[in-house]
Amino acid sequence: MSVLDALPGGITGIDTYMGGVSEITAGFLLGGERPALVETGPAKVADAVAREVTAAGLDPADLAWIVVTHIHLDHAGGVGDLVRRFPNATVVVHPAGARHLVDPERLLASSARVYGPLMDTVYGGLTPVEADRVRAADDGETLDLGGRRLELLYAPGHAKHHLAVFEPDLGVLFAGDGVGVLLPPNGVLRPATPPPDFDRDLAVASLHRFAERDPAHLVLTHFGPIGPADERLAEAEAKLLRWCETAERAAEEQGPELDHIEAALRERFEREEGHESGDPDRFELLNSYRSNAAGLLRWIQQRQTRAD
Ligand SMILES: [Zn+2]
Repeated sequence: MSVLDALPGGITGIDTYMGGVSEITAGFLLGGERPALVETGPAKVADAVAREVTAAGLDPADLAWIVVTHIHLDHAGGVGDLVRRFPNATVVVHPAGARHLVDPERLLASSARVYGPLMDTVYGGLTPVEADRVRAADDGETLDLGGRRLELLYAPGHAKHHLAVFEPDLGVLFAGDGVGVLLPPNGVLRPATPPPDFDRDLAVASLHRFAERDPAHLVLTHFGPIGPADERLAEAEAKLLRWCETAERAAEEQGPELDHIEAALRERFEREEGHESGDPDRFELLNSYRSNAAGLLRWIQQRQTRAD
């Protein structure tokens, strides 16, 4: 029994077992005459994800779309391997991310800085995708899956190149990392504020945009459907604001340094997140206090630079 079993009709959740760990990073297969895979997981598990897609009964020639909510490697790293397995699939991505899938050198260099040793053990790289297989999504564009539509919504904040995917008939919103991370069985929603381009105001505006769609099902890449959607979106906003506030206060009172911000976040949120009974290791792999602190620090510094 997986939380992914709760996904509504015709949507198959795929546990990518990123880093060999269950229930941290998902992909989603949406049926139709022209089926779509939303999120690939990292390159390291691309073979397993491809097997899951075909195990769902799909002929590899039939997959029409591979949509990634953004180009961070836990969401898009497998894209170059998967386009080889699924020869007719077009990759759909935010325009600010498109060129990085074709020429991933800079993305890989910055990922290596963020992920450190996990880059090799958990993520793997990103095999370049031929330019003619990549389609840059327009904001509000609809993808036709044949019997199903997907609306693509720009949703920056977590990253500049972030979009959400909305299935209007079932009311399913695939939020990528735009709402945060909630790993079963812990049940605690944590903001995802990594470097290099986390931006609070954009992130809040994206949450409002999600709420306007009034989704019946809110689905996180990390990990699966959570509800009730309206309450979770309000919770995500309130939490995000408190994380930002905590980081700003630490930077102001103790100086704008990573260690101070990380310590302040831990002090304020560790107990409330229930890590005594939860599992910090899985969060560490994916959405650590330190990487969130680094993103918040950079946001604070960039705002300062703009103000000067
Ligand atoms: Zn992610």
